[in-house]
Amino acid sequence: MSETFDYDLFVIGGGSGGVRAARRAAALGKRVAITEEYRYGGTCVIRGCVPKKLLVYASKFSEDFEDARGYGWTVGETRFDWPTLIANKDREIERLERAYLTNVEKSGAVALTGRAVLEGPHEIRMTDDDRRITAEHILIAVGGRANPHADLPGAEHCITSNEAFHLAELPKAIAIIGGGYIAVEFANIFHGLGVATTMIYRSKEILQGFDDDIRHGLHLAMARKGIDIRCEELVREVEQRADGRLAAHLAGGDVLEVDQVMLAIGRKANTENLGCEKAGVALDAVGAVVVDEYSRTCVPSIFAIGDVTNRLQLTPVAIHEAMCFVDTLYRGRPSKPDYESVATAVFSQPEIGTVGLTETQAGARFPEVEIYRARFKPMRHTIAGRDEPMLMKLVVDGATRQVVGAHVLGPDAGEMSQLLGIAVKAGVTKDDFDGTMAVHPTMAEEFVTMYEPTYRVRNGEKV
Ligand code: NDP
Repeated sequence: MSETFDYDLFVIGGGSGGVRAARRAAALGKRVAITEEYRYGGTCVIRGCVPKKLLVYASKFSEDFEDARGYGWTVGETRFDWPTLIANKDREIERLERAYLTNVEKSGAVALTGRAVLEGPHEIRMTDDDRRITAEHILIAVGGRANPHADLPGAEHCITSNEAFHLAELPKAIAIIGGGYIAVEFANIFHGLGVATTMIYRSKEILQGFDDDIRHGLHLAMARKGIDIRCEELVREVEQRADGRLAAHLAGGDVLEVDQVMLAIGRKANTENLGCEKAGVALDAVGAVVVDEYSRTCVPSIFAIGDVTNRLQLTPVAIHEAMCFVDTLYRGRPSKPDYESVATAVFSQPEIGTVGLTETQAGARFPEVEIYRARFKPMRHTIAGRDEPMLMKLVVDGATRQVVGAHVLGPDAGEMSQLLGIAVKAGVTKDDFDGTMAVHPTMAEEFVTMYEPTYRVRNGEKV
C-alpha cells in the first residue's frame, strides 16, 4: 500500500464489474474509491438484463392465458397496461440500485457520484468540480452504450433499448433493426405484449455465432407466432411523417409504417472523452480498451474490465473479470478468465440456452464429431395445444467422447444452460451423460437419454 496516493484503487464505473472489483478489493483492506456518473448498477441492472427480464415475464402472460384453456381454465377478458408495468419495473430497479450502492458502502469503499476522466497513469479528475484524485491503480469499468447507427438517414427518429424501457406508451407497430441478442429478445417482448413486430436483419439467419439448428429453430418459432422476420434486408432510411408515425424504407423496396423503430445493432465502448489518450491507454479500432489476458492495459497501473474491453459483453463475464483482477493484483494469484465455455441464455420465446462449441465450430476443430439431437413437444404444450417443438443438441468430440457443446431451444433453456455449463466446463464425457439417471418427467431428461448419434461430422462434412 502506498500512502503517496489518495487511494490504492480508483474504479471508474459502478456497473456489475466495477462494483464487484471495488467491494472485493475493499474487503481485502485496500483503500478503494469508486465513481458512477449515472446510476449504480450500470447497464445490467438499470437498462439491460434485469429490466429486460421483467419485460419478458410480462410478455409471456399472453401465451399463458391461451395455454390455460387447454387445462380447463376459462380466462376472462384480459387487458394489459404498459404504464403499470413500467412503473412497477422502475420501482424494482430503484430498489436494486440502492442495494448496489449500500453494498459498496458496506464493503468500506468510498462511493462517489460523478464523471471521472483519466489525467495520467495514477490520476483522475472529477469533471463536476475538477477535483483531482490519485490512486496507485485505476480500473476502467465504464461499459458500453447502444450503437446509434449514425450513418442511417433518420437515425435520430429511432430508439434503442435504453428508450424502450421508458416509452410513454406501447407502440402499435414496431420495426427492430438487428438480429442479435437484443433484437431477438425485444421482438418477442413487443410481440407478446400485442405489438405488430417486424425484425430487419442484414445477414442470412438471425443470431450469428449460435448453433445453426438453434438459430433456424428460433426463427421458425418466432415466425409461427406472427413476428415478421426479414433476413438479408436493410433499412435505407427512416422518415418521420406529419402525424408522428415513422416510415422505414427498406432496401428491398418495402416501406414499413410503424410507431417506433428500434436499433439493436450492437454496442460501443464508452471511451469517448475518457482521457485514455492523455493517460496513454491504447484503444482498438472500435474504441475499446486494449487489455492483456489479466485485464491490464498498456499502462501498468491501469486495468480495464467488462464491456469497455469488448471481449464477451455479458454481465457474469465482467464480474468474473473483476474477481480475476483482484486475485491478480491483490492476492498474489494471477488469474485469467476462461472464455471458452461460457454458458449463455437468450431470453427469446422460446428461450435459448447454450454452452461451448456449435456444430460448425466443433467440425472445424475435431476430425470426427458426434451430434446427438432431440426434437420433441414439451409435455406442457401437449394439452395446451401449442405447436412449438423443443430442441436439444449435444456436440461430442468423437475421439475423446468429451461433450464440447450443449444447446437447447425451449422452455427454461436458460436455467438448463447454467447446469450444463458446469458439466461442460468440468470436461464431462458423453458416457457421463449416458450413465446419469434421468429425472422424470422433465424436459431436461432428454439430455441423458440420447444414446445413439443422430449423425456424425467427419472433417467438417455431415455424414
Ligand atoms: P449483437 O452483437 O448481439 O448483435 C448485433 C446485431 O446487429 C447483429 O445481428 C448484426 O448483424 C447487426 N448489425 C451490426 N451492425 C449493423 C449495421 N450497421 N446495420 C445493420 N445491422 C447491423 O448486439 P446486441 O445489440 O443485440 O447486443 C449487444 C450485446 O449485449 C450482445 O453482444 C450481448 O453480448 C449482450 N446482451 C446479452 C444478453 C443476454 O445475455 N441474454 C441480452 C442482451 C444483450 P450481423 O450478425 O450480420 O453482424
